Amino acid sequence: VQTGRTRPEIVAARKNSLLPNLSISYSEPIKFVRGEGAWLIDDRGRAYLDCFNNVCHLGHAHPDVVEAIARQAAKLNTNTRYLHDAIVTYAERLTATLPDGLSVASFACSGSEANSLALRMSRTLTGSNDALVLDWAYHGTTQELIDLSPYKYKRKGGKGRPAHVFEATIPDSYRAPAEWPVEEHARRFAESIAEQIETMRKQGRAPAFFIAESIPSVAGQVFLPEGYLKEVYAIVRAAGGFCIADEVQVGFGRVGSHWWAFETQGVTPDIVTMGKPIGNGHPMSALVTTREIADRFNNGMEYFNTFAGNPVSCAAGLAVLDVIERDRLRDNAAKIGAYLVARFREMQARYDVIGDVRGQGLFLGIELVTDRKTKQPATAFARKVNDGARARGVLIGTEGPHDNVLKMRPPMIFSRADADHLVGVLEETFAAVSAEGA
Ligand code: PMP
Repeated sequence: VQTGRTRPEIVAARKNSLLPNLSISYSEPIKFVRGEGAWLIDDRGRAYLDCFNNVCHLGHAHPDVVEAIARQAAKLNTNTRYLHDAIVTYAERLTATLPDGLSVASFACSGSEANSLALRMSRTLTGSNDALVLDWAYHGTTQELIDLSPYKYKRKGGKGRPAHVFEATIPDSYRAPAEWPVEEHARRFAESIAEQIETMRKQGRAPAFFIAESIPSVAGQVFLPEGYLKEVYAIVRAAGGFCIADEVQVGFGRVGSHWWAFETQGVTPDIVTMGKPIGNGHPMSALVTTREIADRFNNGMEYFNTFAGNPVSCAAGLAVLDVIERDRLRDNAAKIGAYLVARFREMQARYDVIGDVRGQGLFLGIELVTDRKTKQPATAFARKVNDGARARGVLIGTEGPHDNVLKMRPPMIFSRADADHLVGVLEETFAAVSAEGA
């Protein structure tokens, strides 16, 4: 069902009229015309199973969210300096999903804006500008967030680590030194944080904050060792810094067992930032903190954000929370995620290239290596699997410093049949790529 411009015409038009710094997925780009549930339909009528895009948390074009947005947009959309029910109801509902103490919300329009507000808070309250981040982290699009994102500043176009940013080792258990006992991973990796704080101290500096994704995703779907955040938060707080959990990718029940991925580590951050799935595609984001921090931040300078927290956004956000609860989507994420991990482990027994399988709920990674002993990244193999899955109608991604980790974040409605379809396509693709002698 060809509508509008052809694919080559759009590629040419993008070259003419869009900033060239914007990449396109796949060497043969896809034009989608419709989304429904876990599926995306292209301009040729072909359906693709979307196992990658975690923004459409409840599935593409979820009717409850579409209706909530349409109903509210037809009635009123204005800014938050007027009174409206939706913003307070939404703030109450959102904070109710978080541990006690995290009770005050602020809204923004993107994950970057939420993180930016978290920095402003921490810097205002500590009087320090200095940051602790994990290697290969990504926290957003603005210059102050690129400065906190090794994933950006270490790569082409980046200017390297800024002087106010201190980088700790990524706590990747799969790549931990072989002599470290597993039960010591948390403590051993946390030592890197202590070392960075010591380096800061020698320069007369102290951290304003430590920011990390609760499951570092851009770094390659890395699951923190048990107890890691407990160790780190204690060290950071002792040095006077705030602990910020970036839940932009991993929040809203994706891990299944909990609403928020930091909860799996048994900690309570000082500030939590959220985005992507929050409005099922409607651009919005949030920050949640404690009453005490909120009051101390209230120093006379307002935080007002034109579009943030408007009635339409809050309607979208409320519909997302309603559907997660009504349809028990966290339970589904836990069940289907465990099933997928078990199926991936079966594949691991047959394919040496699969070095590690990891996942929690519907946040999943398969790390590919050319050799299980040296753990040499199998980057070319991963790219071929990614392309091969797309050719077979399944969308996944690759991630990590070596792009050798297959990344999957399917929507929370992902069914057992969807999971079987994904595994079937991966099986076929692994067989084909292995036969090719990648
Ligand atoms: N934090 C993390 C962990 C992210 O993955 C992203 C987006 N990829 C952001 C922050 C920034 O969010 P946004 O693109 O909505 O500004």
